[in-house]
This record gives sequence, structure tokens and C-alpha cells, in this order.
Amino acid sequence: MIELNGNLHIHTGYSDGTLYHAEIAAEACKAGLDFLFVTDHNVLVRGVNRWFEFPGLRRVLLQAGEEIHQQDRIPQKNHLLALGIPADLGTLARDPQKLLDAVNASGGAAFLAHPFDPAAPLVHEDSLGWVSWDVRGFAGLEIWNYMSEFKSLVRNPLAMVFYALFPSLGISGPDPETLARWDRLLSEGGRVSAVGGSDAHGHSYAFGPLRKIVFPYRYLFRAVNMHVLVEEVTGAEETDGRAIVAALRSGRGWVAYDLPKPTNGFRFWAEGNGGRVEMGGEIPLSAAPVLRAEFPFPARWNIIRAGTGTAAGGSGKQIAFSPSQPGAYRLEARRSFRGRMRGWIFSNPFYVL
Ligand SMILES: [Zn+2]
Ligand SMILES: [Zn+2]
Repeated sequence: MIELNGNLHIHTGYSDGTLYHAEIAAEACKAGLDFLFVTDHNVLVRGVNRWFEFPGLRRVLLQAGEEIHQQDRIPQKNHLLALGIPADLGTLARDPQKLLDAVNASGGAAFLAHPFDPAAPLVHEDSLGWVSWDVRGFAGLEIWNYMSEFKSLVRNPLAMVFYALFPSLGISGPDPETLARWDRLLSEGGRVSAVGGSDAHGHSYAFGPLRKIVFPYRYLFRAVNMHVLVEEVTGAEETDGRAIVAALRSGRGWVAYDLPKPTNGFRFWAEGNGGRVEMGGEIPLSAAPVLRAEFPFPARWNIIRAGTGTAAGGSGKQIAFSPSQPGAYRLEARRSFRGRMRGWIFSNPFYVL
């Protein structure tokens, strides 16, 4: 399997971002990414899907998806990331179930964006979480949205300036309510994959007489990323884009905070009956499965069984864990960074049947 390191949930000048596709691709190359999904608000930009190459840098695959929400709803809840869709589905925003059905019918994958999102009055942002939880057919949840976490830190003007200037002192992991909801859905038998997103816009803010881009695209491309495993990379943008969407949909990858240390090389797999299953896969308890993990750097880790919590924990670079009961098992790893433990790797689950 080939590991690809990418970034999801990016806005361009076609909605409320600042840079455009080729410029964003150049930033991604400089950050060492392999793929990008731009997701402008309620617009699918056509004709931009391609492998971008810049002299002296690795190439990056850019794919356009869409972040769809009902714009006349106040506040504008229910943001949906639609990836791998061939046509604009923004007109279906009023009916989240119809929208999800259309994403799936077109071969795409839908993820609920920042499902629990704090209000941040200081930056004139409402809570933009998900409210229509009765829908069916989403591939998963955006468990870690960088800008949504930043909003949670902006509790007073001093905190806003401090964390805008030193974000890595605040950013520390996915929203706990989102993780709890994910575990609940998994424990109820759902197949729910996790993604992480940057929600990059490249906005600049005024601090008195100073104007500063507080979250440049390139900075965010080294922060909350998505690593996936694919069978092959062909160089054809449609084929490779579909393979990445398939990996995201089936949970063959992990949410990474690559700033403390790159997570490249992390692996989490299940062995049983002589076979090997990748993240997001199923394995029967009768196969006496062993969940194994390898980290590129030592980490403090927990294996979590959705619904009952931590099933095992420890620290180091390797894990071997034998589940004794069925359930969805996922892994969280943390590392010390800038004075405290911070989320580093959040795997997708194995479904032990
Ligand atoms: Zn959003
Ligand atoms: Zn967004």
C-alpha cells in the first residue's frame, strides 16, 4: 500500500478563501503534501482537478469538492463536505438527506464538517455545527477541524490575539463532543469514518496598525492532515482522485497532527487467520485478531472500544492488542509538544465482528 499525505477542507477565492487553486497547490507542494481537497462554500469549481508539478518539488494532486450548506438558514448549520462529486449539488442544501443521497449516487463521499462547532462572537462566528442527526448515508465525520478548534480558544480578546500569534500553544486535539458522538455512532453499529480538516482560508486580521495572515495555507498544510493508504498511484487525476476518495470513505487512513512530528510511516493493521486487514476493515473475532501498530516516533497511545472507552493503553513505538469482544476499535496517540500532551494520531476503526 502507498501512503499519501493530504489536506482536506480548503477554501479558495471562489468562496471566502484568499488564494486560488494553482497558488494553493504550490503552497501544498512546499509543505510536502501529496493531495488536496478544496471545498468552497456551495460552489464546485470545474476544470481544476489535476496533478500540479512545480520545479524541484514533489507533485500534488488537487481535487475540487464542495462544502454545502443552506445559506438562507440562520445560523448556517449543517455544513457537509462532499468529495469526489462530478457536479455541483449546492441546490440540494435545503434537504440534507436528499443531498447525501445525491452525493452517494454520484460516487462521492460525504463527511459532516465540524459537527460540534463553538460560537466565537469575537470573530463574529456563530456555532456552525450539524443539527440534522436523523440523516443516513454520510461516510463519516470531520473529527478535527483546525479552525473550529481555534474558535474554541477565542474566549476573550487577549486569548484571541495570543492564539492567533501562537496557535500551536492552543491546538491540542479533536473536539471531545465530536469524538463522543463518533463513538456512539460506532457503538450502535454504524460504519463511520473519520477525517481531519484545516478549513484553510488564508485570512488576514488587523492587530492595531498591523495586518497579519494568521493562518497561512502553508502553515495549515503542516498541521491537521489526512493520511490515506492506496493500492497505486497512476498519475491520472480522475483515477487517483477516486482511489483517495475510496480510501477516505472506507476509513483506510488516519487523522494526523503533523506539526509536532510527521506521522508518515504510522501503520495500524489487524492480523488474523494468516491475513492482514487495513484500517476501516472488518475482521471476525473467530479469527483471533491481533491489532498491531507502529509509530515513526514514540507516543502515548490508547486503543478505544467505541461505547466502552479505553481497552488498552501504553507508550512506545509498537502495539499488539488482542480484542476479546466484538466492537469498533480505534487508536489515539499523543505526544508532548510545546509544554503539554497534544493529539497526534487518530486512527480509523477496525470492526471486530
Ligand atoms: Zn464550514
Ligand atoms: Zn469550511
